[in-house]
Amino acid sequence: MIKAQGYAARAAKSRLEPFSFERRDPGARDVVIEILYAGICHSDIHQARDEWGGARFPMVPGHEIAGKVIATGSEVTRFAVGDLAGVGCMVDSCRVCPSCREGEEQFCDSGPVWTYNSVERDGKTPTYGGYSNLIVVSEDFVLRLPGNLPLSQVAPLLCAGITTYSPLRRFHVREGSEVGVVGLGGLGHMAIKLARAMGARVTVFSTSPAKEEDAKRLGAHDFVLTKKDGWGAKVANRFDLMVDAVSADHDLAPYLGALRKDGAAVLLGVPEKPLSIHSFLLISRRRNLTASLIGGIRETQEMLDYCGQNGIVSDIELIPIQKVNEAYERTLAGDVRYRFVIDMATLKNG
Ligand code: NAP
Ligand code: ZN
Ligand code: ZN
Repeated sequence: MIKAQGYAARAAKSRLEPFSFERRDPGARDVVIEILYAGICHSDIHQARDEWGGARFPMVPGHEIAGKVIATGSEVTRFAVGDLAGVGCMVDSCRVCPSCREGEEQFCDSGPVWTYNSVERDGKTPTYGGYSNLIVVSEDFVLRLPGNLPLSQVAPLLCAGITTYSPLRRFHVREGSEVGVVGLGGLGHMAIKLARAMGARVTVFSTSPAKEEDAKRLGAHDFVLTKKDGWGAKVANRFDLMVDAVSADHDLAPYLGALRKDGAAVLLGVPEKPLSIHSFLLISRRRNLTASLIGGIRETQEMLDYCGQNGIVSDIELIPIQKVNEAYERTLAGDVRYRFVIDMATLKNG
């Protein structure tokens, strides 16, 4: 076993604290990665606080991992010591079910092995995430990272990037597409950049007036403040695609009403309460309501290559790990521009 250091939540709602644990020795197909940067996704907070149920403690969160390879198993072919390497939300899957064969391991029939808050395929070894100094992962679940971009700003692509890239591609966003982005947070800001790079006309729907300038700087053409009543009527029947990245409960009706005939709303956020919508909103213009879950390994690599070619990175605030609890509070308060990333070198400071 390899000794590892990280930060863990010991129980729901407890603060994250320093935690020593062990990673498995690398097998023939495994890569050992020194973690240099780890992004803080809102899903880390949902899980560390057990908002989705079934949380496993102690929990080391983190599924936006960027680092470099420090050892490889004897049969590893795609990575060498010194290479940049990334890990996203998954570290394994059954590899044989139809979804795995299609390269959409996130929908594995047996359930993928999540990077943390999950168990390895042996059915008993807990997985621990990226708020730590190293990780051991099968090379099939390790991503190549673009070398031309700042690594700290690449880390969030491993979840926020792929989660927004995948639905934009699935709904064929192209020159002139009308795309709405709901919620300007970590996912939302990547959705703006990616949709814009694909040629879309982008409108941001936000509850935060202070974010209007940022939305435009990030590439949005329009900004709709959803705190004011009556905004829905101004944008009705216009959008091809609405990407909803809001983490809290909210009324979907005006966003569905903003879709044109056959338009689609894609839910990415995971609010607490079940949805309630009137079917007439869908029927009246044959609108689609769907959702999306990260993306498969193949598409994640495609997204990383695309970002490398187009110079797309996340806007981040780099923090020492000792500030992780404060970063959680600030994310919950909407005070993040637009992703916190932990500088893992600070782990040795205690
Ligand atoms: P985030 O950075 O905290 O952003 C969430 C945004 O939601 C906020 O910036 C805010 O935008 C908006 N918001 C927050 N509270 C709101 C409220 N009460 N009413 C309306 N809007 C509110 O979170 P994130 O990391 O982007 O994650 C967003 C959601 O996606 C989370 O639920 C997360 O678990 C989920 N997620 C899903 C996937 C997937 O595969 N489907 C992957 C990653 C994350 P404004 O200030 O602009 O209103
Ligand atoms: Zn995430
Ligand atoms: Zn499978």
